[in-house]
Amino acid sequence: MALFEQIFDSRCVGCNTWGVTVCDTCIARLTADPHHAMTSRGVPLIALGAYRGGLRALILASKHRSTQAAIRRLGGALRNATAPWGNVIAIPVPSSRPGFRARGYGLGLTIARAAELTVANCLVMNDNGTQRGRHRTERIRRNISVGLRRPPIGSRVVIVDDVMTTGASIDAATDACVSAGLRVVGVLVVAIATQHNTRSVNL
Ligand SMILES: [Zn+2]
Repeated sequence: MALFEQIFDSRCVGCNTWGVTVCDTCIARLTADPHHAMTSRGVPLIALGAYRGGLRALILASKHRSTQAAIRRLGGALRNATAPWGNVIAIPVPSSRPGFRARGYGLGLTIARAAELTVANCLVMNDNGTQRGRHRTERIRRNISVGLRRPPIGSRVVIVDDVMTTGASIDAATDACVSAGLRVVGVLVVAIATQHNTRSVNL
């Protein structure tokens, strides 16, 4: 594993060029086609691109430290994408994936920081193990809540996650924020699964 990490650390996720986590050419290519969509809760979503190819490879490699570095290199594209929202507070979605659970956070925090957004890391994933067997979507819905360090009631917030696949986590995070009196004005993800109804935009 150490050797693999060493190799991964030294190559671009997009083109395998040595020396960087993601090269300038690939950054331009991977972020050239941002997508807009609407979540099932009616919140406008911005993705840097579709969940395939290089963006998918980048996210799937997320157990490696170098992915954090790669996401930081997407910072310019993330800042451009979020500029229209103006002054918002980013709220990362806690991850339910095993690799992240051990560390206690997902890529949302890294993405929000790369976008240079003010972050309130206030969502908590409560998984006490008593809900095993429940449908996954239901489990996620019940397990995300707003904890301490929440922004003031009425704050304009943006939900941040690495990828939108089913949308269950993002909807659960939205519901939790709305219940806590926050105004969810957008969702930011690096990539969106293409089964969602998206349209490309030039930001
Ligand atoms: Zn490259």
